[in-house]
Amino acid sequence: MVKKLILKPGREKSLLRRHPWIFSGAVQSVIGEPQKGDTLTVESSKGDFLGRCGYNPESSIRGRMWTFADEEVNANFFSSKLRIAISLRREIGILDPFNNSCRLVHAESDGLPGLIVDQYGDRLVVQFLTAAIDAWRDEIVLALVDHTGIHDIYERSDVDVRGLEGLDERVGSLSGDEPPVQIEIQENGLKFLVDIKNGQKTGFYLDQRGNRAAMAEFAQGKSVLNCFSYTGGFTVYGLQAGADSILSIDSSQDANELALENIRLNDLDEEKADFITGDVFKELRTLRDSGRSFDLIVLDPPKFAATAAQSDKAARGYKDINLLAFKLLKPGGTLFTFSCSGGISRELFQKIVADAALDAGVNAAIIRQLSQGPDHPIALNFPEGEYLKGLVCKVN
Ligand code: SAH
Repeated sequence: MVKKLILKPGREKSLLRRHPWIFSGAVQSVIGEPQKGDTLTVESSKGDFLGRCGYNPESSIRGRMWTFADEEVNANFFSSKLRIAISLRREIGILDPFNNSCRLVHAESDGLPGLIVDQYGDRLVVQFLTAAIDAWRDEIVLALVDHTGIHDIYERSDVDVRGLEGLDERVGSLSGDEPPVQIEIQENGLKFLVDIKNGQKTGFYLDQRGNRAAMAEFAQGKSVLNCFSYTGGFTVYGLQAGADSILSIDSSQDANELALENIRLNDLDEEKADFITGDVFKELRTLRDSGRSFDLIVLDPPKFAATAAQSDKAARGYKDINLLAFKLLKPGGTLFTFSCSGGISRELFQKIVADAALDAGVNAAIIRQLSQGPDHPIALNFPEGEYLKGLVCKVN
């Protein structure tokens, strides 16, 4: 018997626009006693075929569309999707003699809801975020080896969202050898140590590659404050570009230690680098109270709001740090400010930053708009895929 998901009348509209999510409230019924992770045929209330989805009765996103065509969802299907995603990165030349790491699969944006694959040199790190994709883990690992020739594949599915799917966290080797404690990657000719097993997410924030390079253009001769600095991405770029001094703040002692190692690894002057292990919200106040000021400030906080429902609290967080940053900037200074919250739109983020400038009593103008790198594409049918918003603001 064909397992089916039937939509309520009129609820096919978003699917006809090829949006891949089916929320629980749109489902009329399911047929064939489907289990979590099963593939179901999706039909409108009138019985029109709409495509096939991966099903999870425990998640408020009941179905995630695999396809809008009448095709089999099997090992070949996933192999073909992965081949397309990987060749996209090859076509845009994301890897070159100066860059050996990138995102190979960006979930919904590559037609593979729930799947993240990052390449770090000759290793892959994978996250299975949903029950539907988790059901295909073995086929996906085989296809990844096949398409990339890479055998060392590690899983970092230790993420909260698996809880929403009724899944336990999973980490460990999926193929080949376990990664060593640290591996060295190259980004725009700079070297970075990445801790695949214990680092945040899959180990490194690959989405900021182009934005780090953009920041470097402003750094020469400047006093820089890098907030939420993790393993020193912006710090290393800033020093390489000739910054006078860089103060990096992160709450993770491990991240700060690795950032210092990354400075040394690139033969940069560690005398110019200071670190604070602490809470940015608090440390910015301390810097303000002690009368410090900077030419260039980077604010790259973690996600404050995953969904629009949490956007009020997140907005207060963004307003607070941006206001303090505007107060700490010297006249003529530059702010690189980011939001990676899915629940905060670009428009709202710009409004928050504008309010922060107003309350700080500074005039500022946006001179560049930034986004995630091209290896984190934004499918036109899935605008939620644009999660990273950045503004470069010049204070006058
Ligand atoms: N800019 C970094 C990525 C930042 S990720 C890069 O280019 O690689 C966000 C960082 O914020 C993480 O390293 C996390 O440890 C840190 N963090 C989270 N909350 C914090 C807080 N309240 N104060 C300071 N750091 C915080």
